[in-house]
Amino acid sequence: MQNDFNIFKTSILENNKELFNNLPKGDLHNHALLGSNRNFFSLKFPQFNLEHFTQNEDITSLTNFIKNNIIKISTTKQGQLTLFECTILTAINDGISILEMSVDYRLVYEVYDNQSEKYIHDLIKIKEKYKDKIKIHYDLGISRNAYKIEHDAIIMELIDSTIFNGIDIFGDELSKPIYIFKNIYKHAKKRNLKRKAHVGEFGTAYDVYEAIKTLHLNVVQHGISIINDEKIMKYAKNKNVQFNVCPISNLKLCRVEDIKSHPIKKMYEYGLKVTINTDDQLIFENSLFDEYSLLFNEKVFSIEQLNEIRINSLD
Ligand SMILES: [Zn+2]
Repeated sequence: MQNDFNIFKTSILENNKELFNNLPKGDLHNHALLGSNRNFFSLKFPQFNLEHFTQNEDITSLTNFIKNNIIKISTTKQGQLTLFECTILTAINDGISILEMSVDYRLVYEVYDNQSEKYIHDLIKIKEKYKDKIKIHYDLGISRNAYKIEHDAIIMELIDSTIFNGIDIFGDELSKPIYIFKNIYKHAKKRNLKRKAHVGEFGTAYDVYEAIKTLHLNVVQHGISIINDEKIMKYAKNKNVQFNVCPISNLKLCRVEDIKSHPIKKMYEYGLKVTINTDDQLIFENSLFDEYSLLFNEKVFSIEQLNEIRINSLD
């Protein structure tokens, strides 16, 4: 442990990514279709000219980036699975020990001809292929904007499959009320899945409270607006909710003014359990090392605090 701390300290102080990559750590907020770095992406899709995302406040710029760059590839099963593998290869390359990556249920409709067992089969195969190099935990990803009640049967089937460790609502936070997912999360709880949801990124502290309460969340993805309401921070702390925060993603989507004043500091100081993660490397061009380094260089956290957060990500 002491040795790990010394390696961690040297890696950050000397800006040594290679050393950092040798240490155990989790990336617990990662989207399978967008988690690749540009190098692995170019290796697997050499003909494809990937644009650079420009920092923008408007979520439509993110939607457009995905539309222009990813959708074309992901219309085929092979394209989607190759993107998943690029994400895993990136994580292995960055020395990630535990990768919690969300994979979208809509693939069953889009590329598997409504046959969920084939999707499950492919997910198992990928996990097996890399099992000696990385621990992969799949989260069942549910797009908040695209979800329809008629998808419930497939979603419930996937929850029952035991391939998923967790469930995670992502996408446009303001598009649909959270209570419509109540039954799905009730079922996920019964099957012992970790219950995650993207809230408090574009929404308010109250949205975070409502989601924790309604869906019995164990984990909030982002949740940074919680700092605007101390009562809700207290509520989340009492419920032992973990916050998987992605500072560079928040910066590039203009959710925060700068890293120095990023809410993660207040969250940590209040006693909330926080972790540091990458979200979408393909868009934000950030490795986990970049996230940790930036938080140190901008004096958000000390080396000791960052190391404690790294260890927490392995729980
Ligand atoms: Zn996310």
